[in-house]
Amino acid sequence: MIKVNPEFTQLLVKEFGTVAQLGTLAEEGLEFSKEFLKYLFRSDKNKYWRGMESEFADILVMVDQAKEIFDMDVVYIIMKQKLDRLCERLEKDGIEHPIAYMEVI
Ligand SMILES: [Mg+2]
Repeated sequence: MIKVNPEFTQLLVKEFGTVAQLGTLAEEGLEFSKEFLKYLFRSDKNKYWRGMESEFADILVMVDQAKEIFDMDVVYIIMKQKLDRLCERLEKDGIEHPIAYMEVI
């Protein structure tokens, strides 16, 4: 596992700008979608699995930068609401589940 140096991530956002980096995050999401659709509909599955892994790596690099851009206190509140809804959905279907998240201080 690697962790990108936060100072490096902050430098990328500062040098390229928030709009450009959020645009790149959106672009990487689309590239992942494209690889996934190729994986679904073409015969050479291994090639496109690798393509998805490559695009996922791009997304992770951009997510680190997005964390520098957005108000993460707000994002984590929204994330908790979404996770709570997923728990409710599982429980409605009678599916037992482990705790969905832990508060990290
Ligand atoms: Mg890419």
